[in-house]
Amino acid sequence: MNYISIITNFGCHYKCPYCIVKKNNLHIPRTTLAGLDSLEKALKETRCNIISISGGGDPLYEYEKHVDWYRKLFGIVRKCHINGSICSVLVEMHTSYMTDETSFPFYDCFRVVYHANSIDQLSHIRRIGDEITRAVFVVTADYTIADIMDIALFVKNSSEIDELSFRQLVDDKYTEQHYLEDYLRMGHKKLWWYIEQNDYNLYYAENEVSGRYRDFEKEES
Ligand code: SF4
Repeated sequence: MNYISIITNFGCHYKCPYCIVKKNNLHIPRTTLAGLDSLEKALKETRCNIISISGGGDPLYEYEKHVDWYRKLFGIVRKCHINGSICSVLVEMHTSYMTDETSFPFYDCFRVVYHANSIDQLSHIRRIGDEITRAVFVVTADYTIADIMDIALFVKNSSEIDELSFRQLVDDKYTEQHYLEDYLRMGHKKLWWYIEQNDYNLYYAENEVSGRYRDFEKEES
């Protein structure tokens, strides 16, 4: 499976406690309908068959105002599929809105990655179609081993959440932290996935493709 990440900027709620973007502002280009015009060509050229949608902000911020963008996106995905130019293109959504906090049709995705920061949020995750549900936590300085285990046991006993991952905080200078790292590595592929930061994806934003997220960051004039 080859991934391409669409970096969106619809704005954000700025509620994640570890957010560094809030302080530094979003430097990603604003997402427009016309910015999808080159997506089909990019999929053909890169032979990517999974589109991961993330931000720059939360992709589902004010979703109701951006329904046309998602209609166009899923139209491109289905067209690629029908033409047989790519065997099938799947969509993975990354969001910090839990299932009941948005009217987005999660069942259109192959996987939904819910960015959570409390066990209470986990109880608001629902599978509404055949999508795989994953919860991801960013580990910060205040996490303890007991916190990690509480989260892991909640997910293990949940019939609504299929997968769990942890990743490290990356600070505003793109420096990865290493909180509880040995412990997180120990549980990798057993009770959770430990995602080590890597700039390995291909990224798409507003008709441009790059191998580095930061290439889309523009200094404000
Ligand atoms: S979704 Fe991203 S930009 Fe928005 S608050 Fe969370 S970390 Fe910050």
